[in-house]
Amino acid sequence: MDDLGQLLAGARRAVFFGGAGISTESGIPDFRSAGGLYTTAHDLPYPAEYMLSHECFVETPALFMDFYRQYLVHPQARPNRAHRALAELERRGNLAAVVTQNIDGLHQDAGSRRVIELHGSVHRNHCLGCGRHYGLDAIMQAPGSPPAPPVEP
Ligand SMILES: [Zn+2]
Repeated sequence: MDDLGQLLAGARRAVFFGGAGISTESGIPDFRSAGGLYTTAHDLPYPAEYMLSHECFVETPALFMDFYRQYLVHPQARPNRAHRALAELERRGNLAAVVTQNIDGLHQDAGSRRVIELHGSVHRNHCLGCGRHYGLDAIMQAPGSPPAPPVEP
């Protein structure tokens, strides 16, 4: 860790690439570890891999949205020390960007400004029919599920 700290202190173009592990301390379960989604979500009608897939979203949108709201969205989560440290490194000019597989938005909540979200964000949702954008509140409060996406010709 000391060596890493020294490396970062002199860095100008470092990029952090992260995933679920950084948000577990914020109370968001990861996928494959002991307390992760794959082992704790026992009530799923299909394997978690399917529930997480685009296929599930397209084929059974109501099922996907229920799963999404219950297991993938954590509105109560707050950034932890790791998120804050990365934001500080960016402020100091040592970190060029964060690339994340996470969809929780916690890097931005911590103050990171250059965040590349490979899998999107729970905060950015759009209608597949008309493109209209919706925030997380609209998704969480929407009754039932959105209509099935249009079938591509
Ligand atoms: Zn629409």
